[in-house]
Amino acid sequence: MRMSQLLAPTLREEPAEAESDSHRLMLRAGLIRKSSAGIYTYLPLAFRSLRKISEIVREEMDRAGGQELQLPIVQPAELWVETGRWYEYGPEMFRLKDRHGREFCLGPTHEEIITALVRAEVRSYRQLPLLLYQIQNKYRDEIRPRFGVIRGREFIMKDLYSFDRDEAGLEESYRKMYEAYSRAFHRCGLSTTAVEADPGAIGGDVTHEFMVLSPIGEAQVVHCRQCGYAANVEAAPASAPPARPQGAPATEAPPAPRKVSTPGVRTIEDLVRFLGTPAHAILKTLLYEGDGRLVAAVIRGDHQLNEVKLARAIGLSSVQAASPERVREVTGAPAGFVGPVGLNRVEIVADPWAMALDEAVTGANEEDAHLVGVVPGRHFSADRVTDIRLVVPGDPCPRCGAPLDRSAGIEVGQIFKLHTKYSEALGATFLDEDGKEKPVVMGCYGIGITRTLAAVIEQHHDDKGIIWPVSVAPYHAVVVPVNVKDRGQIEAAERLYHELTGAGVETVLDDREERPGVKFNDADLMGFPYRVTVGARLAASGQVEIRRRSDGRDVPVSLDEAASKVR
Ligand code: ATP
Ligand code: MG
Ligand code: MG
Ligand code: MG
Repeated sequence: MRMSQLLAPTLREEPAEAESDSHRLMLRAGLIRKSSAGIYTYLPLAFRSLRKISEIVREEMDRAGGQELQLPIVQPAELWVETGRWYEYGPEMFRLKDRHGREFCLGPTHEEIITALVRAEVRSYRQLPLLLYQIQNKYRDEIRPRFGVIRGREFIMKDLYSFDRDEAGLEESYRKMYEAYSRAFHRCGLSTTAVEADPGAIGGDVTHEFMVLSPIGEAQVVHCRQCGYAANVEAAPASAPPARPQGAPATEAPPAPRKVSTPGVRTIEDLVRFLGTPAHAILKTLLYEGDGRLVAAVIRGDHQLNEVKLARAIGLSSVQAASPERVREVTGAPAGFVGPVGLNRVEIVADPWAMALDEAVTGANEEDAHLVGVVPGRHFSADRVTDIRLVVPGDPCPRCGAPLDRSAGIEVGQIFKLHTKYSEALGATFLDEDGKEKPVVMGCYGIGITRTLAAVIEQHHDDKGIIWPVSVAPYHAVVVPVNVKDRGQIEAAERLYHELTGAGVETVLDDREERPGVKFNDADLMGFPYRVTVGARLAASGQVEIRRRSDGRDVPVSLDEAASKVR
């Protein structure tokens, strides 16, 4: 490729709208251009990189036994109605109608459609396990698109779904994906931390997120240097109540209960109806801080429960799953868990079965506020709570006791165990060896391809520009003749360009009639791993200079051996 032909419009000026280093550099280096909020065009440099990331991910999915397919983006509402998510997904889902008035959505994720495929096509245990994946655009009408392609409304995701006969099979698929993710991110030059996380709207119980630690990350992570324990601490969104100002007297009157809109909810049955799920969601315990702030609730739920919606209904801003092992350990019973608000992870283990149903929802006497009006001690007895932990930086690691660190993280991937949540809702069953009809046991696994690209740039840049890892660089090398009026330099540069390209090194020849400073700045900005400079040394000693972008040192080599030194 010749630079004079390459559509990579670099910007000298800092783009005013840039919210992070990767966003700024992707605009400046001519990788992306915005079409509308959270929706971008990927220019040739970005697209080459995205293809490389996709190919690495594809190789790792295939190595783990995945089969690639392509599911529709436009999905019929009926399937989403069957699982209840048509109502639960909320305004993040792009919805549309066809000319006959039938309802559709643009796929934000693909559990429904792929489970329906397996329901129709898989009959026998002999066809399992099955790992199916695609790499495709996803659509989410994010309330706050940010940081360029990091939080877009149209973005590329790899999503894989595993279908197994039983829990042991799921365990194996989950393990394979965990390893595949670690390998894929490593090959992209990304250093990631796998953290225990919250299953959110997808459901299920066990989940890990792969985080790129970065100050711009929207997720909060605590991690232990000693034993490697790491967990997502849901960050306080804007709607969270403000913390008590420093020095404010602790005796201050508690803030008035926040109003939450739960129209017509008076009983547990109302709540279940409000949640719009067939599940038996039972709110067990609401927990308040000294200042009257609702910090957490313990719920009993099965895998169909929409914890996120429940959390919102009771005025909590986020959801955290306690590990089922931990709950079982303390209470001897399975339980779900909702909480916390604020930056602290609150792990609460209560006896989920001990409380009478109405204890948790009494105080239902004030319009729209009854669920947050519950007072501990009056409406339930706090002594039923067997264990409360606040995990904050400097606090001991729940595993080994060493002090925990806190960082912000960009979630580049997540893996979930879904169990039979979707197969039961949609009736995706198979005939097992014992002659019994059983629901397939599922997992789902996502990687944000476009977000990964931006995360690579967040981790690999300096004040001059991008520093691409070779594996995902749009081009490996740029050849820069310093003086385009010098025939000798031009011929040497052309020769090098052909030798490098012939040897499989993806190379750009900067043939523009620009000052050397402009070319060098662009080379640094665009981040080619290697720059070969053909300058004054050529005439003097027959040498050119090879510079690695990562260390910035020029190494003179003879023109003859230059191509073989770029590796
Ligand atoms: P987030 O917490 O950042 O909103 P998520 O948990 O909703 O992400 P998943 O449903 O787990 O996302 O999707 C799998 C992956 O898709 C994420 O790990 C992330 O890399 C990517 N992704 C999700 N939302 C976006 C988005 N709006 N823009 C770009 N990539 C995204
Ligand atoms: Mg999201
Ligand atoms: Mg997330
Ligand atoms: Mg996620």
